[in-house]
Amino acid sequence: MDLSLIRNFCIIAHIDHGKSTLADRMLQMTGSVEVREFRDQVLDSMDLERERGITIKASAVRMKYKAADGKNYVLNLIDTPGHVDFSSEVSKSIAACEGAVLVVDASQGVEAQTVANLNLALQHNLKVIPVLNKVDLLNADVARVTRQLESALLIEPEECLHVSAKEGIGIEQVFERIVRDVPPPVGSADLPLRATIFDSDFDVYKGVVVYFRVFEGIIRPRAKLRFMGTGVTHEIIELGVMEPKMREVDSLGPGEVGYFTANIRDARQIVNGDTVTDDRAPASEALPGFEILNPVVFSSMYPVNPKDFPQLREALEKLHLSDSSLTFEPESSGVLSMGFRCGFLGLLHMEIVQERLEREYDLNLVLTIPSVVYKVRLNTGALVEVDNPSHLPPGGEISEMLEPWVRATMMCPVDSIGAVMELATNRRGAYKSTEYVGEDLVQIVFELPLSEIIIDFYDKLKSVTRGYGSLDYEMIGYHAARLVRLDVMINGEICEALSSVVPQDRAYARGKQLVDKLKELIPRQMFQVALQAAIGNNVIARCNVKALKKNVTAKCYGGDITRKRKLWDKQKEGKKRMKQFGKVQIPQEAFLAALKIEN
Ligand code: GDP
Ligand code: MG
Repeated sequence: MDLSLIRNFCIIAHIDHGKSTLADRMLQMTGSVEVREFRDQVLDSMDLERERGITIKASAVRMKYKAADGKNYVLNLIDTPGHVDFSSEVSKSIAACEGAVLVVDASQGVEAQTVANLNLALQHNLKVIPVLNKVDLLNADVARVTRQLESALLIEPEECLHVSAKEGIGIEQVFERIVRDVPPPVGSADLPLRATIFDSDFDVYKGVVVYFRVFEGIIRPRAKLRFMGTGVTHEIIELGVMEPKMREVDSLGPGEVGYFTANIRDARQIVNGDTVTDDRAPASEALPGFEILNPVVFSSMYPVNPKDFPQLREALEKLHLSDSSLTFEPESSGVLSMGFRCGFLGLLHMEIVQERLEREYDLNLVLTIPSVVYKVRLNTGALVEVDNPSHLPPGGEISEMLEPWVRATMMCPVDSIGAVMELATNRRGAYKSTEYVGEDLVQIVFELPLSEIIIDFYDKLKSVTRGYGSLDYEMIGYHAARLVRLDVMINGEICEALSSVVPQDRAYARGKQLVDKLKELIPRQMFQVALQAAIGNNVIARCNVKALKKNVTAKCYGGDITRKRKLWDKQKEGKKRMKQFGKVQIPQEAFLAALKIEN
């Protein structure tokens, strides 16, 4: 295929700025999707994604476009995932492109991920095409956002396209700019095969479906492929392109984008950023970008009904096939019975997994307080990694504790600088820099412990900035900290699921707040429940949930049985997300209580 007629590009944007809508419009205009089968947001195929409006898995679509110069181009649109939790995944998609359409909502302006994604694109030498979207909105402020782009991102005002993805305005110009400005791919078909994997999916019949872009050489069905990062080999069964329906082809050469299947059943063998080559005539060196993503947030999942444990295992196994960054290991925590310790890329990833399990697999789950991975130096000199607070060795055995830190970039309106500074400082943040973006926006950089932002930092940032604040973060390594394990005892017994690791100088205040909060959340039972917070053997705070005096149905005098039934049903409903701890019923909210506590 003539390389000069290929353009590979992605669309990058802050969440909700209209990336999916623009992609849909482009598919529609190139006739890639028939109007009759058109549904909004073709690229976001999962129901959950549609509802939340986020893109979890990247995918790619090949479009035919007849440009103003009369030539027929092949445009490959590579979709990128759109949230902070997935930013390292974004770079895999970006690495498969020569150009990026940068979408900025003209009514919102530049946000944290606009900057983060643009920086990624520039690092990979992509040609950037700036697009101001949603110009149809009454509150679109094109002039203001143009100034922001100019001052923060050094984008020339005359470069910016004005688009309404929703109304279909200005889409033609986006296509023409892609054809004109994005460089065509280069690469020789005669060299040994090198293709990069940027995404994968799982199909029950075909196994793992691998999405890739060829850089050099030619890929053909039945070729034996070597995955240079993971070291496995597989023979291609089906090779094709997505238009966006799958269509089988005989070969794909340099610059082309497609998918293959090879009856791969173990999703862990497929890592985004890995390079595939021909096992019989291998390339000597892999393309850059291979890295195995380790989960950074851990939480335990227990089925509310212990009988659902096998179903939970099955559901996690299935989910793992299309989401290899999710890890899980069986765990039994005495009174909470059997569950799984799960690892996630971030808090949003955790929420998505929980929701999918509950929705698609009809499971009712209780999740414990999320934890980061601590590195613990023992007195013996050994260094151990601990992702579960209840596994932390006793204080006396520990010589040093290290916790993961991140560099957080926040964008907010100028008038909320003070509030954002205070928020980040309260979370043990170390201030780095402030930079003005246009006349009314500011970018604030802090370094802070990951454990302080996985909790409710993002919600708080949103609330102190009236919804205008945005956040992007990257891991920067481990720092020493004085931390202790805070346990909660219910009727004298440690509830491991409520244990957390907290800064030593905040432990007393946290302990007190935690038991007070639990007292509010744990419903009164037939007996008194004693709640205690403890560090090691030291009880630092205590309170009691008083015993219930009478049956609630007693107040439904008159013997109206339907009314009683309703009340019982309501109680049952309320119990759904309760977990039995010894004799005590604990609601899901209690497990998350520690998260919602103010410093
Ligand atoms: P994404 O998160 O970047 O993929 O954003 P979406 O494409 O899901 O769009 C977010 C919201 O903005 C949706 O409700 C869209 O309907 C809306 N939207 C997208 N483009 C436009 C536009 O040009 N004009 C208006 N008024 N709304 C838009
Ligand atoms: Mg989207």
